[in-house]
This record gives sequence, structure tokens and C-alpha cells, in this order.
Amino acid sequence: MMKSKSLLIIFILAIDVLVFSGCAGAPGKFARTREQMGTFVTITLYSSSGRRADAAIDAAFAEIEHVESVMSSYRKDSELNKLNAAGADGFAASDELFEIIEKSLEISELTEGAFDITVGPLVAEWLIAKNENRAPDAVALAEAEKRVGYKKVMLDHKTKTVRFAEPGMRIDLGAVAKGYAVDRAMEALMGKGIESALVDAGGDVLAKGKKPDGRLWTIGIQDPRAKSLESTILNVENMSVTTSGDYQRYIESGGRRYSHIFDPRTGKSSDCVSATTIAPTAMRADALSTAFCVLGPEKGIEVAESLNGIEAFIIDVDGKTYSTTGFSIFVVPEE
Ligand code: ADP
Ligand code: MG
Repeated sequence: MMKSKSLLIIFILAIDVLVFSGCAGAPGKFARTREQMGTFVTITLYSSSGRRADAAIDAAFAEIEHVESVMSSYRKDSELNKLNAAGADGFAASDELFEIIEKSLEISELTEGAFDITVGPLVAEWLIAKNENRAPDAVALAEAEKRVGYKKVMLDHKTKTVRFAEPGMRIDLGAVAKGYAVDRAMEALMGKGIESALVDAGGDVLAKGKKPDGRLWTIGIQDPRAKSLESTILNVENMSVTTSGDYQRYIESGGRRYSHIFDPRTGKSSDCVSATTIAPTAMRADALSTAFCVLGPEKGIEVAESLNGIEAFIIDVDGKTYSTTGFSIFVVPEE
């Protein structure tokens, strides 16, 4: 298992060279993959110039690298970790860090608190348990839960200062930073004159424009626990598709799964299998997928239906699927 995974990683890293397919004159397809933000980021685009394609992809990867340096929980020197260290004293944040925190708090309001970037103390407990290969400690989680709550994040819009109402709070942008980075990467591509592109950061996907032949970009979403490799194929234009679930990151202990996604209102791991969101930006799609996981299928779909321009597709533990009424418009019919 480990071996095949490392082989896969070596293979993917080896293809961070421009892969070109097409013929002279007509726009060609270019793609590169790089390991960033703890996952593999693939950028695919059409361009009539290899040099322009290369420069655009460089700019997009640089943008993601920058977002990671600001928002990562894993990098000690990230701006986010400095903000967390300042905590209740307050921290004057950069425009981008302030913006993502502000937008995240808005999404908390839209999702009845199911999405909440102040889950940091819960995630910290989960990571300790994961490293020690055991279930998270219920007492420690209950203790951590007391320091969770988006309403305890105070924003000063004038000075862009972020302050926690209580000591020991921690912001974790794990559920939005990837989506935000994907949006920024797409802006970088467009800034270099690219009009047709797909950015995929480990399943957080954003499609821009159409392919040169007029067809739409296709994005596959897989049923995570289905044995077959069959997946639902979506056609989108200028939209993001993002999936959250417990199939990649969880702790298995005593016959139970402990997901890395928490219900911020209870401090317990959510038992979500998979939630997919279609939204105009990858940041929204990323955040809402996490929220729909926490809300569960019925409530998740209800909230999705209430939001403009948002579609959702949720799979529960029994493999039953739920979707918003508009979702099917994006599904490519099976042949
Ligand atoms: P992934 O990044 O694995 O695709 P998500 O986008 O759902 O999945 O992000 C999950 C991460 O978000 C967790 O690892 C944790 O850092 C953080 N998180 C967990 N629960 C919540 C929540 N309810 N609201 C906001 N962020 C959360
Ligand atoms: Mg998310």
C-alpha cells in the first residue's frame, strides 16, 4: 500500500513538466501537476502559445504557494499562526487573511454555525489522536469545544484587526484555504491571458470558459465508498465543484470512524460520507461542502436550496444520494 502510494507520488512529481497535446496553429492543451497545500494541484489549460501557457501556470502555482504561506496551520511561520498566537490580544491581518476570515464568518451565518473556522482546538486534539493512532479523547474534546465559536471572533474593519474574545481559541482554515487558493490561481491564469482552464487542488476544482471546440469542461465525482470506479460526471462553465467527506482523512478505532470534519456545535466528529457542492467560486464551494457534511443530507440540501447559485449532492452512510433540484442540470447523462 505505502509502496504503491510513494510510486504514485514519484510519478506525479515527475510530470511537473509541461505536457502538451494538440497540433500547430490551433490552441493546444497544456497540463502540469505539483504538490502543494498537502495535495496534488493540477492545472490544465488551452493556449495557442506554449510559452504563455508555461508562464501562466508558473504564476498560478506561485499564487497557491503564497496563499499557503499565509493560511497554513502546518507552517509555524504562516501569518495565520501569528494571528492565532496573538489571540485575545488582537492581530492586524493582511487584506487577504482578513478577507477570508470575514467571508468564513458570513458562511457560518448562512449554515447555522455548521461551518466554523474556530474549530482549531478540536482539530488540534484530533491531530494528536491521529499521531498516536487512537480515538480522540472525549474529555479533551469537550474541553476544546469550550473554545470554539465563530461569534467569539471580533473584527475591526477599519484596522483589519482580528481578536479572539477568549484565550485559547484557534482559527483553522483547512476547509476554505484550498478553495481560496484555487480561485486565486485561476485569477493568475486569466491575468496572463488564459481564457480556458481547469484548476484541480485534490478535488477542489474550478473550471473557466469552454474548450476551444466549444465543449464544456468535465469534472468527475466519485462515490467514495462504492467499490466500483464509477462516478458522476458533471459539465460546468465558470463554476467550482468541490467534495468533502470522511473517505480520505479519518481515524479508525474500536470499529468507528472519526472524521477530521467536526460539528462545531457539539464538538463531535461528523459522520458524513460525502458532500459535493457546485458554486461560482471555489472558496464558497469548499466551505459549503464542509458545512453540508456537518448538516447531513436533509438539512444540507435544505440550506443549499435556500442559497442562490448553489447546488449540492450528498451521499449518506447507507449509500443513499440526495441532491438539490438544480443539480441534475450539470450531470452528463450516462451513455
Ligand atoms: P478536505 O480539505 O479534506 O477536502 P474539507 O474542505 O472539508 O476537507 O476541510 C476539512 C478541514 O477543515 C479539517 O481538516 C479541519 O481543519 C477543518 N474543519 C473541520 N470541521 C470544520 C467545520 N465544521 N467548519 C470549518 N472547518 C472545519
Ligand atoms: Mg471544505
